[in-house]
Amino acid sequence: MSMAALVLKPGREKSLKRRHPWVFSGAIERVQGAPKSGETVQVRAADGQPLALAAWSEHSQIRARVWSFDTEAQVNVAFFRARVQAALALRERLPARRHTNALRLVHGESDGLPGVIVDRYADVLVAQFLAAGAERWREAILDALLELTGCEAIFERSDADVRQLEGLPERAGFVRGNSEANRCAIREHGLNFRVDIAAGQKTGFFLDQRDNRQRIRALAEGRAVLDCFCYTGGFAVAAAAGGAKHVLALDSSGPALAVASENAQANGIAAERLEFQEADVFAHLRTLRNAGAQYDMIILDPPKFAPTAAQAERASRAYKDINLLAFKMLAPGGLLATYSCSGGVPADLFQKIVAGAALDAGVSAKIVDRYTAAADHPVALEFPEGDYLKGLLVYRA
Ligand code: SAH
Repeated sequence: MSMAALVLKPGREKSLKRRHPWVFSGAIERVQGAPKSGETVQVRAADGQPLALAAWSEHSQIRARVWSFDTEAQVNVAFFRARVQAALALRERLPARRHTNALRLVHGESDGLPGVIVDRYADVLVAQFLAAGAERWREAILDALLELTGCEAIFERSDADVRQLEGLPERAGFVRGNSEANRCAIREHGLNFRVDIAAGQKTGFFLDQRDNRQRIRALAEGRAVLDCFCYTGGFAVAAAAGGAKHVLALDSSGPALAVASENAQANGIAAERLEFQEADVFAHLRTLRNAGAQYDMIILDPPKFAPTAAQAERASRAYKDINLLAFKMLAPGGLLATYSCSGGVPADLFQKIVAGAALDAGVSAKIVDRYTAAADHPVALEFPEGDYLKGLLVYRA
């Protein structure tokens, strides 16, 4: 049986020639054959030149995701085993392995596995299959992961909204191994965290901020700290461990805050020094400002306000709002660590928003550091979309 093919419109082969792995629906002239969702298709230029092998995503605007630019490659079980092996080899060379047992092992497109995310928490893996092609090869990828990592269990969290865009149902639960392993105990830079893999957000923990939490820890000594969008207390615990005078940490999720309290205890941090409060950050920052509160360090690590450029304007207003309120409460000599994980808000726009917030707050401030995701979240050079996390450390004069 011959492989189905996508023939692109004239000129639309350019991004594939730069090895960008996505084919948008608008670039396709015609489809030869009747590929099923997730099936491997050959992508061809308008003149018939073969360009890539890709997974067909019938329902998504990203109509195909490239598995290989070698059009002679065999996309089969051995292919996926080799991709998983390559991803693991990169992590084995990372210094992070020495101070943590929690790493992102597979980071989607940047590891040549579009739609596949795998995080390791001690001996449990949490996997997400977020695109039709990933779903099609799920069993092969799960088998390779178990075999090559030696982990005891894999929990699947294919319950992200993006599955709907792919026409895939939600799925969550243990798919391999021990069904008792639930709240995983991990270590990060010598600190203890519990990860709720079943009910936590995303895969349970935000590993991308690992090194940024450590940087905050190194700067926190003696400071009054406000951690906004604290989730399970990553930055708050790090700041307290770094000798912060007091930390107030806010999040709107009760379940996340329950884990956050356990994390404070797991590191021997007294409740008087680290206070968690369930609150909407937008409203509570106003309450704190109206009460005249001041902090020596403020962390803003909100959820993704703009997954794509289409939401950039609304997201910009939200970033401006929280950064403006933060600047108003930042004491002279204070530090603001402000992040955006929105793919739709590029780094230069984010910096402009923060600059505008400082200006409107009447504060003079300068950037003293820039943050990205940790190295276990590599960014393939041809896939700039992989570079989603940006952070600025801003010093108030
Ligand atoms: N800094 C965290 C990760 C933050 S994830 C860490 O290092 O682990 C973003 C968090 O924002 C989530 O916990 C989510 O519950 C919370 N959140 C989303 N909208 C919110 C809002 N309006 N007010 C308060 N918290 C919110």
